[in-house]
Amino acid sequence: EFDVLIVGGGPAGAAAAVYAARKGIRTGVLAERFGGQVLDTMSIENYISVVETNGPAFATALEQHVKTYDVDIMNLHRAQGIRREGKQIVVDVDGGAQLKAKSVILATGARWRELNVPGEQDYRNRGVAYCPHCDGPLFKGKDVAVVGGGNSGVEAAIDLAGLVKHVTLIEFGDALRADQVLQNKLRSLPNVTIIMQAQTTEVLGDGTKVVGLNYLDRATQQAKSLKLDGVFVQIGLVPNTEWLKGSDVALSRHGEIEVDVRGATSLAGVFAAGDVTTVPYKQIVIAAGEGAKAALSAFDYLIRSSAE
Ligand code: FAD
Repeated sequence: EFDVLIVGGGPAGAAAAVYAARKGIRTGVLAERFGGQVLDTMSIENYISVVETNGPAFATALEQHVKTYDVDIMNLHRAQGIRREGKQIVVDVDGGAQLKAKSVILATGARWRELNVPGEQDYRNRGVAYCPHCDGPLFKGKDVAVVGGGNSGVEAAIDLAGLVKHVTLIEFGDALRADQVLQNKLRSLPNVTIIMQAQTTEVLGDGTKVVGLNYLDRATQQAKSLKLDGVFVQIGLVPNTEWLKGSDVALSRHGEIEVDVRGATSLAGVFAAGDVTTVPYKQIVIAAGEGAKAALSAFDYLIRSSAE
């Protein structure tokens, strides 16, 4: 039985593991893919105190840091369910195994929703980007498109307009879905064009990088093309919580785990951190901070519950 079982091995899970292990309590990490989204990242330039690194190097550093402590890492395993049985929390693992713990930290992260059009995968990190906070500065002085007219797409377009030469916002529907104040701000910017009723059909590249995008004008059914240096896909971030549906861990209407300021979920003894939660701004430094916080909260919970 673990004192703390962490589900997820990204920045949030790794930080939680280091903080828990340093309390001298029995700590385990169950991860489908240790490293998490960072493994898919090229350059990281906004983790404070690290001027520049790349995703795989950062993921290796996370694992090395965790391994300096006595942490039981169970990599390449997937959690499938969670429930409370008396004082214990039981996590079902693929293959039929069960892990038992006094407290659990959920840090299963999220994934960007993809366009699923030709060219998107081929030019990922070579012009196709998902995170304006991360990759925006790479497109300084260039022409980019943002696909998606919800809050995240419009925020990304506003953000990028201050960095790049020109932004084309592409929305599938016949209206933007972002808050009116964001729409007003977007429309006030001189270097932004908005195209509505446009279905992205292909990301174009020259073999090494993005050179444009094809779309279908849904009003006229005409195929059209844009010349671009980058395409930011902003059609949603999907939290990895499918496996929690039907459990006692409450999710928001977007499927994110609801947490309080201490990282506690609705299920006693279960905490959560990082991109999988309702905490805004999905970034490594934030996930790591939240992971540390969840571990300290779990430790506090253990001290109090063992005194009962
Ligand atoms: P994740 O990194 O998503 O980790 C989740 C972990 O949970 C993984 O180990 C996963 O395998 C595991 N998992 C999921 N489901 C299960 C399950 N059922 N059972 C067991 N394990 C499970 N942020 C920045 O700050 N700077 C950047 O430059 C930057 N660039 C990015 C570039 C790209 C292409 C992407 C995709 C993201 C980028 N981000 C960047 C965002 C950053 O990667 C995330 O905010 C951060 O990784 C979130 O950490 P996390 O630990 O919450 O989740």
